[in-house]
Amino acid sequence: MQNTEYKLYIDDVIRRVESARLKVSDYHIVKIVAVSKYSTADEIQKLYKIGQRAFGENKVQDLKAKSEELSELPLEWHFIGNLQKNKINNLLDINPALFHALDSLELAQELQKKLQAKNRTLDCLVQINSAKEESKHGLMPESACGIYKQIQDECPNINLKGVMSIGAHSDDKEVIKESFETTYEIYKQCAGATICSMGMSGDFELAIECGSNMVRLGSILFNK
Ligand SMILES: *Cc1c(COP(=O)(O)O)cnc(C)c1O
Repeated sequence: MQNTEYKLYIDDVIRRVESARLKVSDYHIVKIVAVSKYSTADEIQKLYKIGQRAFGENKVQDLKAKSEELSELPLEWHFIGNLQKNKINNLLDINPALFHALDSLELAQELQKKLQAKNRTLDCLVQINSAKEESKHGLMPESACGIYKQIQDECPNINLKGVMSIGAHSDDKEVIKESFETTYEIYKQCAGATICSMGMSGDFELAIECGSNMVRLGSILFNK
């Protein structure tokens, strides 16, 4: 795509985010995290040049490679994938702005140990498996608030900022909506939570209308 054509294309995505957030309130601000997992450093630079700063990756090794390749740029890197315990140190070396997918108490405890040893903190979101799907990671909705509180109490080096969820895998808009509403309810109940990360290329407008204030957009932004 030519640059001007590309810009028009991105403008359209931004307009869609804008009209969805205005349905909630004039004051409802939504942050876009550009998920670059399908994209090259060149494509990331293209988005950077038109103002995008927050980028997300779902594999630790890709996050490392791209953040190093683009270290000259003032980018904000998010880690949105699931984290294996043996990759914790690698993730901490990259020091991302936000880890979206803290999906168990055990992982939190392991992360706490490593953070404490390094005398560091990390901003994190707890992942909710809102539609209780086998294929997905995350806390079950009924136990999410309790575990959120337990992590806050027991893991002082983890700064919990809120929740993250992937919408239900369904063609039925009502089912997807229900999964977002479940996550939003949990978000409202978690003390101090300020980030509700939900919505991807196929469902971000619905997610925003259900209260999301952070969308993770991959294919639609990178035209894949
Ligand atoms: C890939 C991915 C996205 C972006 O998906 P698209 O449908 O391409 O927008 C968002 N969140 C997570 C956790 C992902 O792995």
